[in-house]
Amino acid sequence: MPKILVIEDDKQVLLSLSELLTSEGFQVNTAENGLKGIKAALDTQPDLVICDVMMPELDGYGVLKELRKHRATVNTPFIFLTALVSRQDQRYGMNLGADDYLLKPFTLEEVLSAINTRLTKQASVTQHYVDELKDAEERLNALLFYDNVTRLPNRALLGQRFTWIQEIAGSLAPVTLLSISIDRFNRINESLGFIVGDNLLRLVGSRLQRLVADSDTVARIQAGQFAILLPSADKALAQNLAKTILNELAEPFDLDGQMLYVTVSIGIAFGPGDGASLDILLKNADVALNRVQEKGGNFLNFYSAELSHNFIEEVTLQANLRLALQRDEFRVFYQPQISLTTGRVVGVEALIRWEHPQRGLIQPGEFIPLAEETNLIGPMSEWVLSTACAHVKNWQDNGMGELRLAVNFSGRQLTEDNLPEKIIQTLQNTGLSPLSLELELTESVLLRDMGAAISTLSELRALGIHVAIDDFGTGYSSLSQLRHLPFDTLKVDRSFVKNVSEKSETAVITSAIIQMAHTLNLVVIAEGVETSEELDFLWNAHCDEIQGYFVSRPLPADEFLKFMDNYSPENFLQNNLNNVK
Ligand code: C2E
Ligand code: MG
Ligand code: MG
Repeated sequence: MPKILVIEDDKQVLLSLSELLTSEGFQVNTAENGLKGIKAALDTQPDLVICDVMMPELDGYGVLKELRKHRATVNTPFIFLTALVSRQDQRYGMNLGADDYLLKPFTLEEVLSAINTRLTKQASVTQHYVDELKDAEERLNALLFYDNVTRLPNRALLGQRFTWIQEIAGSLAPVTLLSISIDRFNRINESLGFIVGDNLLRLVGSRLQRLVADSDTVARIQAGQFAILLPSADKALAQNLAKTILNELAEPFDLDGQMLYVTVSIGIAFGPGDGASLDILLKNADVALNRVQEKGGNFLNFYSAELSHNFIEEVTLQANLRLALQRDEFRVFYQPQISLTTGRVVGVEALIRWEHPQRGLIQPGEFIPLAEETNLIGPMSEWVLSTACAHVKNWQDNGMGELRLAVNFSGRQLTEDNLPEKIIQTLQNTGLSPLSLELELTESVLLRDMGAAISTLSELRALGIHVAIDDFGTGYSSLSQLRHLPFDTLKVDRSFVKNVSEKSETAVITSAIIQMAHTLNLVVIAEGVETSEELDFLWNAHCDEIQGYFVSRPLPADEFLKFMDNYSPENFLQNNLNNVK
């Protein structure tokens, strides 16, 4: 029922108008002068004001002026009631914001029609404001609580959902937090651009959302990182979900016709045991996630207090790493590379290990990132290069003919100004021919600074040194992008070799990579060959060389010599390639 305030000093008029409106179903308030009228308007916030113009103390214009100053009454429809009005007066009132004039004496119809017109108009105006306000609120919420790329909840909303769970189920409510990170996401952005990166994020987000229940929250919390919050804490359930996610996201993503393969790493923490607040849970899930990534990604891990302890260990490790070189704790292991044409061991890849006095053998994945952080990578690589060159030169002199040595180089070293000089110096010191040396670099390293890479690599190749692109396929670059770079060998990453005979999609891609590489006159080495099925496939696809546990794990120098003593190219071909079509 609309509320109408009537302000009128003529008691007779006030009474009759008030009765009339009440009988029409309005709720009526009255005031017998301007000042009281203002107070009543502000107190009761009527839907419409009918006000006399001529009143003692404060006239109708004064009332209107005042009401337009207050937020509660700035838009309230206002109708003047007057016995006489000149055009001039009328304009004055309208300019102040009056909506209409009613002339005394008035008929019932006139009053009702004026009131209804105003109220109807006001209702539509009000609705418009309400709609606009709602829109603005939605836009603001979208900004505050949703990620603008994926439209998934952001970290703030994840926090709110966490609080809700606690409000409903108590502060010790069980929750599961999965932290999911796309492995090497920055490489995708670097090599394919942000638009492709963003599209990938949207697709990953929607796949994740399809895998969870309505009561679960999928949020995007960082560049390539998502989180899932479940209102329960069940280890088996969390593990199943994580496995499903690993599988579902391993399926290719179609980005405008370009098929993209990604892997993710997942860290899992349970509340309240692993953390009573969302911040701590996120931090601990990330600790578990980092462990997965250090080991190459594409897996899941649960948080445990031990892992935090490991972080402290890592810092200690970094400190010890500085001393490792002086204490002669590094070792070079060698992994044979076999030609599929002749079966012969045509090369070895030098892979560093750290023989830690307390922890035993540490793999490069664990300490190379630390070495890169501390600039220790330079002296460490020089040591690997000179040690390996000396070993291989010695083996060549003792009957291994033209054995080639492959050495890994990290991105930092490529941008050092005097890299070619340093390498020449080492070759001279050890007597190894530049023709026997191959440098392995990953594609992302090369793409980051193409110009510098091209000039350094050209200089090295002019000396006869070979250049190989390592882990090909994981950096999301295309062969056409890499064509501008001077290199000789393509090392197809293990992810394109693993179970290749069982996965038709991978098989198509792997064959295509080998074919394209051959058109560019590149030698193709398949990395990480573990089974005879994989080997058969690679042989059929005309891959040139293979390397992997199937032939041998990386071995210390003395064991490599024993391996060579027992190795026969003829037996290798005979035993392994008899299934080949
Ligand atoms: P990478 O150059 O791609 O080396 C191949 C990695 O695959 C090696 O791991 C090797 O042990 C492993 N591998 C070989 N065959 C198989 C197989 O059949 N199955 C599986 N699952 N893995 C296989 P590793 O030795 O742990 O080295 C890891 C990475 O560390 C290397 O990847 C390389 O990027 C880096 N790295 C190793 N040594 C050096 C070095 O002296 N300097 C630099 N800058 N990086 C190095
Ligand atoms: Mg390598
Ligand atoms: Mg590799």
